[in-house]
Amino acid sequence: MRKLLFQSLFRSPFTEQAPSSDDAALSELAAAVSNAARRRLGRSLSIREIDAGSCNGCELEIHALNNAYYDIERFGIRFVASPRHADVLMVTGPVTKNMREALERTYHATPNPKWVVAVGDCARDGGCFAGSYAVVGGVAEVIPVDLHIPGCPPTPMEMLKGILALLEAADAAAVVP
Ligand code: SF4
Repeated sequence: MRKLLFQSLFRSPFTEQAPSSDDAALSELAAAVSNAARRRLGRSLSIREIDAGSCNGCELEIHALNNAYYDIERFGIRFVASPRHADVLMVTGPVTKNMREALERTYHATPNPKWVVAVGDCARDGGCFAGSYAVVGGVAEVIPVDLHIPGCPPTPMEMLKGILALLEAADAAAVVP
Protein backbone atom coordinates (compact mmCIF):
# COMPACT_ATOMS: atom_id res chain seq x y z
CA MET A 1 0.00 0.00 0.00
CA ARG A 2 2.79 2.37 0.93
CA LYS A 3 4.54 1.54 -2.36
CA LEU A 4 1.36 2.28 -4.30
CA LEU A 5 0.88 5.63 -2.58
CA PHE A 6 4.50 6.52 -3.25
CA GLN A 7 4.17 5.60 -6.94
CA SER A 8 1.04 7.67 -7.32
CA LEU A 9 2.93 10.74 -6.14
CA PHE A 10 5.43 10.58 -9.01
CA ARG A 11 3.69 8.74 -11.81
CA SER A 12 2.23 10.91 -14.57
CA PRO A 13 -1.52 10.58 -15.18
CA PHE A 14 -2.73 7.85 -17.55
CA THR A 15 -5.06 10.21 -19.32
CA GLU A 16 -4.03 11.73 -22.66
CA GLN A 17 -3.20 15.38 -23.01
CA ALA A 18 -6.24 17.45 -23.83
CA PRO A 19 -6.28 18.26 -27.54
CA SER A 20 -6.04 21.83 -28.72
CA SER A 21 -9.48 23.40 -28.93
CA ASP A 22 -8.61 25.01 -32.28
CA ASP A 23 -7.40 21.92 -34.12
CA ALA A 24 -6.81 23.24 -37.64
CA ALA A 25 -7.47 19.95 -39.46
CA LEU A 26 -10.78 19.49 -37.67
CA SER A 27 -11.92 23.04 -38.33
CA GLU A 28 -10.98 22.77 -42.00
CA LEU A 29 -12.76 19.45 -42.43
CA ALA A 30 -15.93 20.49 -40.61
CA ALA A 31 -16.06 23.78 -42.52
CA ALA A 32 -15.69 21.85 -45.79
CA VAL A 33 -18.62 19.60 -44.82
CA SER A 34 -20.67 22.66 -43.89
CA ASN A 35 -19.90 24.42 -47.21
CA ALA A 36 -20.65 21.28 -49.23
CA ALA A 37 -24.00 20.95 -47.42
CA ARG A 38 -24.88 24.56 -48.18
CA ARG A 39 -23.98 24.12 -51.84
CA ARG A 40 -25.98 20.92 -52.16
CA LEU A 41 -28.94 21.71 -49.91
CA GLY A 42 -28.84 25.49 -49.58
CA ARG A 43 -28.72 25.15 -45.81
CA SER A 44 -27.01 23.29 -42.99
CA LEU A 45 -26.91 19.50 -42.73
CA SER A 46 -29.16 17.50 -40.41
CA ILE A 47 -28.28 13.97 -39.35
CA ARG A 48 -30.48 11.34 -37.71
CA GLU A 49 -28.55 8.57 -35.99
CA ILE A 50 -30.05 5.08 -35.87
CA ASP A 51 -28.67 2.29 -33.75
CA ALA A 52 -29.87 -0.79 -35.60
CA GLY A 53 -28.24 -3.18 -33.12
CA SER A 54 -24.68 -2.02 -32.44
CA CYS A 55 -22.55 -2.67 -29.36
CA ASN A 56 -22.63 1.14 -28.81
CA GLY A 57 -18.95 1.55 -29.64
CA CYS A 58 -19.86 3.34 -32.85
CA GLU A 59 -22.38 5.50 -30.93
CA LEU A 60 -19.67 6.68 -28.56
CA GLU A 61 -17.66 7.98 -31.51
CA ILE A 62 -20.73 9.56 -33.09
CA HIS A 63 -21.59 11.25 -29.79
CA ALA A 64 -18.06 12.60 -29.71
CA LEU A 65 -18.89 14.70 -32.78
CA ASN A 66 -21.05 16.79 -30.44
CA ASN A 67 -18.64 17.02 -27.53
CA ALA A 68 -16.68 20.10 -26.56
CA TYR A 69 -13.70 19.12 -28.71
CA TYR A 70 -15.34 18.30 -32.06
CA ASP A 71 -18.43 20.46 -31.46
CA ILE A 72 -19.61 20.13 -35.06
CA GLU A 73 -22.76 22.09 -34.35
CA ARG A 74 -20.67 25.25 -34.55
CA PHE A 75 -20.39 24.51 -38.28
CA GLY A 76 -24.13 24.08 -38.66
CA ILE A 77 -24.04 20.28 -38.76
CA ARG A 78 -26.58 19.01 -36.29
CA PHE A 79 -28.15 15.81 -35.07
CA VAL A 80 -31.94 15.83 -35.12
CA ALA A 81 -34.47 13.79 -33.22
CA SER A 82 -36.83 13.08 -36.08
CA PRO A 83 -36.13 11.48 -39.47
CA ARG A 84 -38.58 13.99 -40.94
CA HIS A 85 -35.99 16.72 -40.29
CA ALA A 86 -32.98 14.71 -41.53
CA ASP A 87 -30.88 14.74 -44.68
CA VAL A 88 -28.55 11.94 -43.64
CA LEU A 89 -29.35 8.72 -41.80
CA MET A 90 -26.28 7.44 -39.98
CA VAL A 91 -26.88 3.79 -39.21
CA THR A 92 -24.71 1.72 -36.89
CA GLY A 93 -24.48 -1.94 -36.06
CA PRO A 94 -25.67 -5.06 -37.73
CA VAL A 95 -29.40 -4.79 -38.34
CA THR A 96 -31.11 -6.97 -35.80
CA LYS A 97 -34.41 -8.66 -36.55
CA ASN A 98 -36.00 -6.52 -33.85
CA MET A 99 -34.80 -3.29 -35.45
CA ARG A 100 -35.47 -4.14 -39.08
CA GLU A 101 -38.95 -2.63 -39.26
CA ALA A 102 -37.92 0.47 -37.30
CA LEU A 103 -35.07 1.05 -39.74
CA GLU A 104 -37.35 0.64 -42.76
CA ARG A 105 -39.93 3.00 -41.27
CA THR A 106 -37.29 5.58 -40.41
CA TYR A 107 -35.96 5.42 -43.97
CA HIS A 108 -39.41 5.95 -45.46
CA ALA A 109 -40.13 8.82 -43.03
CA THR A 110 -37.03 10.72 -44.19
CA PRO A 111 -37.74 13.18 -47.01
CA ASN A 112 -35.79 13.19 -50.29
CA PRO A 113 -33.04 13.98 -51.05
CA LYS A 114 -31.61 11.72 -48.36
CA TRP A 115 -28.46 9.75 -47.93
CA VAL A 116 -27.79 6.66 -45.87
CA VAL A 117 -24.39 6.28 -44.26
CA ALA A 118 -23.58 2.88 -42.76
CA VAL A 119 -21.10 3.43 -39.94
CA GLY A 120 -18.72 0.71 -38.74
CA ASP A 121 -17.76 -2.79 -39.82
CA CYS A 122 -20.96 -4.32 -38.44
CA ALA A 123 -23.08 -2.02 -40.61
CA ARG A 124 -21.37 -3.39 -43.73
CA ASP A 125 -22.02 -7.11 -43.31
CA GLY A 126 -22.90 -7.78 -39.69
CA GLY A 127 -19.24 -7.76 -38.62
CA CYS A 128 -18.54 -9.87 -35.57
CA PHE A 129 -22.30 -10.46 -35.16
CA ALA A 130 -22.76 -11.93 -38.64
CA GLY A 131 -24.51 -15.27 -38.57
CA SER A 132 -26.26 -14.63 -35.26
CA TYR A 133 -29.85 -15.87 -35.09
CA ALA A 134 -30.87 -12.33 -34.06
CA VAL A 135 -29.23 -10.50 -36.96
CA VAL A 136 -30.51 -9.79 -40.48
CA GLY A 137 -27.08 -8.61 -41.73
CA GLY A 138 -25.59 -5.34 -42.93
CA VAL A 139 -27.63 -2.17 -43.43
CA ALA A 140 -27.73 -2.68 -47.22
CA GLU A 141 -29.79 -5.83 -46.65
CA VAL A 142 -32.65 -3.61 -45.48
CA ILE A 143 -32.32 -0.13 -47.04
CA PRO A 144 -30.15 1.37 -49.83
CA VAL A 145 -26.76 2.55 -48.57
CA ASP A 146 -24.92 5.50 -50.17
CA LEU A 147 -21.71 5.28 -48.19
CA HIS A 148 -20.01 2.91 -45.83
CA ILE A 149 -17.49 4.20 -43.30
CA PRO A 150 -15.31 1.27 -42.17
CA GLY A 151 -13.77 0.83 -38.73
CA CYS A 152 -14.54 -0.76 -35.43
CA PRO A 153 -15.43 1.87 -34.54
CA PRO A 154 -14.47 4.61 -37.03
CA THR A 155 -13.15 7.82 -35.50
CA PRO A 156 -15.13 11.09 -35.57
CA MET A 157 -12.66 12.48 -38.13
CA GLU A 158 -13.23 9.48 -40.40
CA MET A 159 -16.97 10.08 -40.14
CA LEU A 160 -16.57 13.73 -41.09
CA LYS A 161 -14.37 12.75 -44.04
CA GLY A 162 -17.02 10.24 -45.12
CA ILE A 163 -19.83 12.80 -44.97
CA LEU A 164 -17.72 15.28 -46.93
CA ALA A 165 -16.99 12.67 -49.63
CA LEU A 166 -20.68 11.88 -49.82
CA LEU A 167 -21.75 15.51 -50.24
CA GLU A 168 -19.03 16.18 -52.80
CA ALA A 169 -20.08 13.12 -54.80
CA ALA A 170 -23.73 14.28 -54.66
CA ASP A 171 -22.62 17.76 -55.73
CA ALA A 172 -20.65 16.40 -58.67
CA ALA A 173 -23.56 14.15 -59.73
CA ALA A 174 -25.95 17.13 -59.61
CA VAL A 175 -23.89 19.18 -62.12
CA VAL A 176 -23.44 16.31 -64.58
CA PRO A 177 -26.08 16.77 -67.34
S1 SF4 B 1 -18.27 -1.84 -35.71
FE1 SF4 B 1 -17.29 -2.35 -33.76
S2 SF4 B 1 -17.82 -0.63 -32.41
FE2 SF4 B 1 -19.25 -0.55 -34.15
S3 SF4 B 1 -21.04 -1.72 -33.49
FE3 SF4 B 1 -19.68 -3.17 -34.54
S4 SF4 B 1 -18.46 -4.10 -32.90
FE4 SF4 B 1 -19.37 -2.23 -32.07
